Amino acid sequence: MILGYDTPALPGMMIDDIVTPCLVVDADALDRNLRKLAEFCTGQGMALRPHGKMHKCPDLAHLQMQHGAVGICAQKVSEAESFARAGLKDILVTNQVRQAVMIDRVAGLARDARIGVLIDDPANVAELSTAARRHGTILDVYIELDCGAGRCGLTDPEDALPLAQRITEAAHLHFAGLHVYQGSAQHMPEAKRVDAIAHAARLATQARDLLDTNHIPVPTITGGGTGSYALETQGPWTELQCGSYAFMDADYARVIGDAFEPALFLLTSVLSHNRPSRAIVDAGLKVQSVDSGLPTVHAAPDLSYTKCSDEHGEVHDPDNRLRINDKLRLIPGHCDPTCNLHDQYVVIRNGQVEALWPISARGKAL
Ligand SMILES: *Cc1c(COP(=O)(O)O)cnc(C)c1O
Repeated sequence: MILGYDTPALPGMMIDDIVTPCLVVDADALDRNLRKLAEFCTGQGMALRPHGKMHKCPDLAHLQMQHGAVGICAQKVSEAESFARAGLKDILVTNQVRQAVMIDRVAGLARDARIGVLIDDPANVAELSTAARRHGTILDVYIELDCGAGRCGLTDPEDALPLAQRITEAAHLHFAGLHVYQGSAQHMPEAKRVDAIAHAARLATQARDLLDTNHIPVPTITGGGTGSYALETQGPWTELQCGSYAFMDADYARVIGDAFEPALFLLTSVLSHNRPSRAIVDAGLKVQSVDSGLPTVHAAPDLSYTKCSDEHGEVHDPDNRLRINDKLRLIPGHCDPTCNLHDQYVVIRNGQVEALWPISARGKAL
């Protein structure tokens, strides 16, 4: 690895010597976030299956497993493959898989790991089962309910019965339960979020009771995110899928406050201070996603990141205190799509680079 070409840092380096812009992870803050949610889940008697689409990093997924996770989630089959290649043994693809090539790949992947997928269409039962037979594997299948986000999933919980019956009859599929994730509720204001998850809970309970009555056991009801996890504990869910809690971002800090602390930073340096009250930094649009708002500047209440172009950012510096090459820690507005833009995390502890973690599933959108 060549410093300044394909890596921004080398292990053992001091923070001040890191080349920017790059993503840094505060290892102690990350550990505290992982421990906090793990202990919460244990206390609630719930399983935790963190969402790997957020970080796309096998090293971090392994760390979550060490903290007691039962497995991880992935959003895409190619992302799941990247995790499986790195030794993760229990992966739920929280999505519909409909393209023939990807059905074949996910069925084959189940040779290396326990693999789950979602389903909302009876026609998909035979597709998945036939592919799994071809590979000599068994797939876990979860029925997805549309519980309010208006995306995929059964729109009527009553349809869960005929679909579950079909799944249980398919030789190479195992009916693993219900997937009930209210994605659009995660960033709602609190009162609306409470209502949205209560609605999801009613639909999940209706589907589970219908299956119970018809002697089809529902081993798992999985869902929940960083914005809603405390609400799912009051419903029929048995497993949580939080993703952003590990790193947090500026948008989630506005929505849920300081339940978890920022552990991911976009490290940026001052390039120019050619005008009063304004510094130009080296982190623009190509190294972060601003779909949920601009980043905030960590531990510097007097500074604000005000504008973004492709390769530059503007920082309001009212006291003109910034100097060339000063480093700022930006808290990205939205962690998931920001992580997807980088090749590695620079993991820091006690002011020093402890490790570099490849973001192996970055760009794995198939
Ligand atoms: C993104 C996602 C999550 C995690 O969401 P966060 O808000 O990052 O905690 C959980 N489940 C599913 C299905 C998701 O797509």
